[in-house]
Amino acid sequence: MPIRRQRGILTATIVCTAVLLPALGILQFRWIGEVGRAARQQIHSDLERSANAFREDFDEELRGALQPPQGGGPPGSGPQSPYISHAYIAARTPVGFALLELDRETHEMRGLDWPLNLDPIRVALEAGAPLPRDPSIAVEQLPGGPPPGGRGMFEPPPPRAGPRPPTRWRIAILDLDAIRQRLIPQLAKRYFGDGSTWAVRVLRTGEVYFQSSTSADFIHPDLELELLADPAGRGPANRADLGVCLLQIRRQGASLDDVVAATQRRDLLISFSGLGLLGVSSAFLILAARRSEKLAQLRMEFVAGISHELRTPIAVLASAADNLADGIVSPDSVPKYGALIRKEARRLSRMVDDVLTWSGLEHRSKPPNPQTLAVADIVAHSLAACRLEIDQAGCAVETTIPTELPAISGDPAWLEQALRNLIGNACKYGAAGKWLGVSAWQDATSVSISVADRGTGIERKDLARIFEPFYRAKSAMDAQKPGSGIGLSVVRRIAEAHGGTVDVSSAPGQGATFILRLPKESKS
Ligand code: ADP
Repeated sequence: MPIRRQRGILTATIVCTAVLLPALGILQFRWIGEVGRAARQQIHSDLERSANAFREDFDEELRGALQPPQGGGPPGSGPQSPYISHAYIAARTPVGFALLELDRETHEMRGLDWPLNLDPIRVALEAGAPLPRDPSIAVEQLPGGPPPGGRGMFEPPPPRAGPRPPTRWRIAILDLDAIRQRLIPQLAKRYFGDGSTWAVRVLRTGEVYFQSSTSADFIHPDLELELLADPAGRGPANRADLGVCLLQIRRQGASLDDVVAATQRRDLLISFSGLGLLGVSSAFLILAARRSEKLAQLRMEFVAGISHELRTPIAVLASAADNLADGIVSPDSVPKYGALIRKEARRLSRMVDDVLTWSGLEHRSKPPNPQTLAVADIVAHSLAACRLEIDQAGCAVETTIPTELPAISGDPAWLEQALRNLIGNACKYGAAGKWLGVSAWQDATSVSISVADRGTGIERKDLARIFEPFYRAKSAMDAQKPGSGIGLSVVRRIAEAHGGTVDVSSAPGQGATFILRLPKESKS
């Protein structure tokens, strides 16, 4: 694919990723918010449904207990409700109110003395005054008297003005313990499960009447509902006063809102991690694409450069050969021609070596022929191979190789090629200094070989890049120094294949020092 088209696709990918990822992030954020709100609403309406069913059952159970038995008999004459401890009739007599109770054996009403706890009701009935409020006692007028008023349960009916005062009242005393110990736990289990998720509390006149779990935090209940509410929807003026029961539901552990928020946070984290991952992979893909684009560009430059570099020695060789073949070279000039041909042939062969080693190193990460080598020998061989360039550059060579240096393990051809490249560069770019220094030393784990020159040096911006394949500093190209830009990348690959490194220190005008660091040969 042409590079321009490839670049266009890459730019389009970058733009799409940069626009799409944030847009996706915003959409996901909104969507998760909506899903969270919907989930909260759903859970809340399920909770409300269960709480309403609880209330209906509770109300029905207690109202049913207080209903007069079918057929109009007195309370207690029907099947005894498990939640009523006593049921009475208060009947007006000329001398006051008599208290009657059903004798379950004879099925007749028998009179009895007013118990102490009902005395305030008796006094109020006889005086026609408002009945005292007692949440456990339900007082209701029976049909036949004026129409019943009030709530018929915990709230006594208001006194009514009328031509005839009511004559019969039904009094039922609720069994508060049975309600607390049987009715409410049963309903709580039926509608809110075993208590592992929801905790139930019932308040009566503001006091805790029942609580399914002591660990639940009821300061902020998830739902609150009034039990035994006025069927007409009239809320009581003061719940506590009236003994109104309040049902409270609270999620165990965190509140419903906290749970929904935590779920939202988790969903956000998951989706943003996914997006992040997508972003990082896209970034990697883009980087890889850019790299390969750059590499393709470099390869093109390399092909152009290498063809040029090959053409020059080939042209020199061809014209020298022509001259020699045509016999136009005087016998005195033959050695000169020979030296020229040798120089250009070496240049060609070095270039071919570099290209072959470079492409071979692409597929090979270990030296092909590792041997135990003496550093002094490798240095000597490399210097000898570069003798021509050194002489032509007019460089004085200074070598400092201590005799006690330990051996290293490596491929002699590769290591010599690496050193030849460094020495060749020192001659090519450092000729102005007329000096070339090769030294070696050791530290705890490695042996280092440095190749230094006092030439033009390398600019800071080029230092980081000269080991990249095909990279050539602008100054080198401006000075029309021959080269392909792969010499140092070959050195680096050879160093790495031996488990070592190559570094450079240089500044413009101050020469350059390359250090090849190789691990010492292990004793085992
Ligand atoms: P080439 O020499 O064929 O251009 P290299 O990979 O050997 O390729 O070197 C890469 C670049 O590093 C060179 O083009 C040159 O700019 C710079 N360079 C290498 N060695 C030296 C040196 N001794 N002094 C100054 N610059 C150097």
